[in-house]
Amino acid sequence: MPLQMNEDMQALHQDIVRRNAGEREFQQAVAEVLGSLGPVLSKHPEFRDNRALERLIEPERQIIFRVPWQDDSGRVHINRGFRVESNSALGPYKGGLRFHPSVNLSVIKFLGFEQVFKNALTGMPLGGGKGGSDFDPKGRSDGEVMRFCQSFMTELYRHLGEYTDVPAGDIGVGQREIGYLFGQYKRITNRYESGVLTGKGLDWGGALVRREATGYGLAYFVQEMLRARNDSLDGKTCIVSGSGNVAIYTIEKIHALGGRVVACSDSRGVLHDDTGIDVTAVKQIKEVGRGPLDRYMLLTGRGRHVPGGSIWDAPCHVALPCATQNELNGSDAETLVRHGCVVVAEGANMPATPEAIRVFQEQGTAFAPGKAANAGGVATSALEMQQNASRDAWTFEYTEQRLAEIMRGIHERCHDTAAEYGTPGNYVNGANIAGFIKVARAMVALGVI
Ligand code: GLU
Repeated sequence: MPLQMNEDMQALHQDIVRRNAGEREFQQAVAEVLGSLGPVLSKHPEFRDNRALERLIEPERQIIFRVPWQDDSGRVHINRGFRVESNSALGPYKGGLRFHPSVNLSVIKFLGFEQVFKNALTGMPLGGGKGGSDFDPKGRSDGEVMRFCQSFMTELYRHLGEYTDVPAGDIGVGQREIGYLFGQYKRITNRYESGVLTGKGLDWGGALVRREATGYGLAYFVQEMLRARNDSLDGKTCIVSGSGNVAIYTIEKIHALGGRVVACSDSRGVLHDDTGIDVTAVKQIKEVGRGPLDRYMLLTGRGRHVPGGSIWDAPCHVALPCATQNELNGSDAETLVRHGCVVVAEGANMPATPEAIRVFQEQGTAFAPGKAANAGGVATSALEMQQNASRDAWTFEYTEQRLAEIMRGIHERCHDTAAEYGTPGNYVNGANIAGFIKVARAMVALGVI
């Protein structure tokens, strides 16, 4: 349990653990928020009287369904589908779908819970939710992925709508999957409802910059964190875990802003390239071929691949975990600090364990949680929704400029709120408090619902 929790928060925490028994990730995400909110509830008795925090922790709706599908040889498989609609005080439920074997109710609930705060921080009219399945797309043919997506949507469609719930991608769900999901939604409803999903292809209602948005947004956020320390990305050595959508576009933008990314990773190991990771080669391997990272050496004639190694052993100034939850633990954090790491920002959702966060905060390493630092993806989803609603299509430059402004705004909100509540530089407190106040105010205004 985080040390910072006051007595009320400890009692609430115990209740949450009891009512959500065994849901480790959900308990972890809630505990982190409770650690920040004691002073807010003391200052705002209306939030306490209305039980805004307790209501926010309990998802508005949790949907679990069977997803049967047939593989290419005709064998029947059964997966489990989820959609957790966490909170809709600020707008329709909004958040991605994750297809990965590690998916369970706890994982989706934690992601939905964090999404509520993240979406509030963007300043856009978005509620929060998350969904997915324990389906593993790895090694599956296009036909198998299509049949799975069609079966998944056949059950989920009744819960969706541009004013109700708007999913997007996450781990294992990219433009291919969004295409199959959108096609099935359109077929069942007989409506071309572009605003029901984001992350669409450019030919069928998608928005420029959405693909790049989470990674680009993270790089802009890091730039702001360094600026707040009177520093810059110029010449900084960076490491980025993962090699999926978030990692790829983080590397691309960090390079454009003057930093050098010397390592990235996948489930098989760590790729090092001291001259700077060639992002075109990583795109070729992961976006075109969906293959393993060790092909990098063949493609570029440089770098080295360490099977099974830990990326956090690589010395760096800036560390950006962009793979998945709990991938960076307390001892990894100690190694990073010992090697001189000054900034850590989460591209993935909750990649740093509570112990890791404690190490960073105690050692003076600036640490930004995913709900602030990786909000560029969902913010650009909101821009896609705006374009769909007005049947318009913006340029890359204009959309990217909007994204950069939004990230600067989120940084400022977190930074200023942390200082206002007496913990300057603590982005965890800043994000949790600023996000909570926005949602709680709306919840109080809308009554006990
Ligand atoms: N899955 C992304 C996230 O974690 C994006 C969600 C969205 O665009 O709705 O924020």
